[in-house]
Amino acid sequence: MQLHCLGTAGYHPNEDRHTSCYFLPESGIVLDAGTGMFRLPALIQTPSLDILLSHAHLDHIAGLTFLLDILHQHPVQTVRIWGEAKKLSAIREHLFSELVFPVQLDVQWCEIDELPQFDLGDCTVSWQRQEHPGGSVGYRLDFSRRQQSGGVTPERLRLLYLTDTTGRTDQEMMHWCSEADLMMHECYFPTDKSQWAIRTGHSWTDRVAEIAAATRPALLLLTHVNPLDPDPGALRRQVEKALHADPIPTRLAEDRMKLSFGVGNG
Ligand SMILES: [Zn+2]
Ligand SMILES: [Zn+2]
Repeated sequence: MQLHCLGTAGYHPNEDRHTSCYFLPESGIVLDAGTGMFRLPALIQTPSLDILLSHAHLDHIAGLTFLLDILHQHPVQTVRIWGEAKKLSAIREHLFSELVFPVQLDVQWCEIDELPQFDLGDCTVSWQRQEHPGGSVGYRLDFSRRQQSGGVTPERLRLLYLTDTTGRTDQEMMHWCSEADLMMHECYFPTDKSQWAIRTGHSWTDRVAEIAAATRPALLLLTHVNPLDPDPGALRRQVEKALHADPIPTRLAEDRMKLSFGVGNG
């Protein structure tokens, strides 16, 4: 299965990174709608788009205002935007206030609060609440019996998308996060700035390594990079160092990176 990294920064864009947006073209699933979402049109393969929002901070929703142009370039039949009810209503009331953006979107707003899990085609989505100012949710995507072009038919594929969180380490969360083919985890701060991470509701390298060590994903992808970080590659090196006793393949997300994951990939 392929993941496209359309925006890999937290907070604001820089010369190399737009804000948070990831895309699974085979399923039409978009993870967050930061400014990287302008890159979506050329990649769309499905008649519908499902946009899963972790929360409603601007670096995860600004790209919703690009949908008019995205759908002009590549029309689809249905767009569904999923998230917690209070986040969706804040977006509709404020981001799509006539005073902020002139046009209402022709989309379905889908509240997840009463849906501990729901199906999007062959993908079962579940979610967990996370600690972050205003709250965020982490998503788990379980794909079943997907036919791949190489003829491989994995029994299942599991992707975790955990961003804007200090990183839960309780047993329930660790169990829920286990056996992932791909864990996407934010990593905004190095460990020597962990006090800033805790203050702002973000993760730091040792915390991400602790979660990965406890849950053993086949591949760990570090996301939501600090746009002012002069050497984000150091985050990956720090996580790898913390995991050196029992290594886990770890990569740092870059804008326009295309990643294959699942059986036979890595
Ligand atoms: Zn963010
Ligand atoms: Zn946030």
